[in-house]
Amino acid sequence: MTARWIDGKAIADEIRLEIAHRVKEFVSQTKYKPHLAAVLVGENPASEVYIKNKRLACEKVGMESTLHLLPADIRMPALLDVIASLNRDPTVHGILVQFPLPGELDEGTVVHAIDPAKDVDAFHPLTVGLLVEGKPRFLPCTPEGVHQLLLRSGIEIPHKHVVVVGRSSLVGRPLSIMLSQKGPHADATVTLCHSRTKDLAYHCKQADILVAALGRPEAITANMVRPGAVVIDVGIHRTSAGKLIGDVAFDEVARVASAITPVPGGVGPMTVTMLLENTLRAAIFQRQA
Ligand code: NAP
Repeated sequence: MTARWIDGKAIADEIRLEIAHRVKEFVSQTKYKPHLAAVLVGENPASEVYIKNKRLACEKVGMESTLHLLPADIRMPALLDVIASLNRDPTVHGILVQFPLPGELDEGTVVHAIDPAKDVDAFHPLTVGLLVEGKPRFLPCTPEGVHQLLLRSGIEIPHKHVVVVGRSSLVGRPLSIMLSQKGPHADATVTLCHSRTKDLAYHCKQADILVAALGRPEAITANMVRPGAVVIDVGIHRTSAGKLIGDVAFDEVARVASAITPVPGGVGPMTVTMLLENTLRAAIFQRQA
């Protein structure tokens, strides 16, 4: 079998076009643009690229974005003051603080300080609580990116056995919650694996849909995949030769799976797309509040 490629770039483009239409409608009704405020602390080349891409994506769908560049030696109270002023600013709808933060700055404290109504990264405990309750306000960007890839590729989720490898609060754990929720777009039976899982290969091989989010280059090999399974690769790594690879050994797994996401061009483009969706939702939500 040769797996069908799930084209994350094409699906992301399709969703961004829909978002751009909704933004246009929002602007014509309200006379203002959804606005994402991005906070970047210190000089980290990777973070600078991420922020640049996110701001460019905002611009392309007609949203406003502003960048708040803060020095690496900023103290926690001053950083919290910046967040408090963005919380108060009625023209800002979404707040994104780019992680990792340098030095001793505590990311948990920063997450808690963001107004949950502007929590477009969906990290705040209130946002997470609403998700667990099955009444989400914002969906976490990478997990929802995976969810949308499956839905828009016509892959049935209800009744399927999904195995998620990786239980981080950023990816694996929220995804396991989302796919096991009641409802026509979920209703999966989910197994969540991690570094303490005994016989990872056995569990992976039970999957109808296997999601690799363990952060280990090419750790998922063909012998761990049931023939015909759908394989979603969240991982992203750069080799010493500069090539991007995922958590899945793509070439060999593509010979066994029925559908697979490539790296790059799979989950990656979906994450920023879901940030745009959350920023628009935040603007709509604050208008109604
Ligand atoms: P993380 O915080 O490092 O979490 C990794 C998870 O995998 C942990 O739960 C860990 O288990 C588990 N794990 C590690 N080694 C394992 C092994 N050998 N067998 C089974 N489980 C193992 O990583 P993350 O933030 O979730 O990210 C995962 C990957 O996705 C990374 O490559 C990251 O770069 C990528 N990523 C991509 C995007 C995107 O937009 N494409 C977004 C976010 C992340 P323990 O809990 O037991 O330690």
